[in-house]
Amino acid sequence: MSIIGILGAPHTFYDTHPVWENKVVFSRQSLIDVFQALGHTPLILPPGPPETAKDYVHLVDKIVLAGGSDVSPQLYNEEPHHLLQTVNPTRDAFELAALDAALKEKKAVLGICRGIQLINVYFGGTLYQDLSLSASTQKHWQLPTPQEIPTHSVRILKESSLHFLPEHYFVNSFHHQAIKQLAPELTAIAHAADGLVEAVENQEKRVLAVQWHPEGSWQTEKHDKEIFKYFAEEL
Ligand code: MN
Repeated sequence: MSIIGILGAPHTFYDTHPVWENKVVFSRQSLIDVFQALGHTPLILPPGPPETAKDYVHLVDKIVLAGGSDVSPQLYNEEPHHLLQTVNPTRDAFELAALDAALKEKKAVLGICRGIQLINVYFGGTLYQDLSLSASTQKHWQLPTPQEIPTHSVRILKESSLHFLPEHYFVNSFHHQAIKQLAPELTAIAHAADGLVEAVENQEKRVLAVQWHPEGSWQTEKHDKEIFKYFAEEL
């Protein structure tokens, strides 16, 4: 049994009346559900001052960097393009500190969507601020098709942490950004047909990250469930 620290996402919602502004921290329920279904113990780690991140990481066996807002382009020395969406520097700083602490403590890290992008930036890579700035013409923002339905293929590198997936695998897709320059310490282990990087691992194979949302499809796609099992039990 592993204790899995899921980095919480900050969010503001208005209940009943605009006066009731609620600032909350959340995890997608499906991400909690999959670890509980596998017999593990997920915990949500609340973002705060970056210097507190290591204390939270110390409490858990592994961490998950989940999906959400865009990574600030300041972190890879670019000015914001007009197609950049919401950024949250507070979340960026906390998650980068948590990732740093996890690597120092040799704890495994799983990145999902924004998570793979943050990991690439941490290691010195860059992002397409919007996919219209890349050569891709594929649909990577699959709405209104629901998240349980895989829509595009990825080619999996067999000698990698994702060796248990079929070589030609179908995934869901909800991203308007992607890795541009891959960080030198990372290896691309899955690619979309248009060449975009869809999964990475680090040299020590303690960091695994995917561009799709396996937490949105694990109930029907058994291989997506295996990603969480592999991370919680083998990585
Ligand atoms: Mn995609």
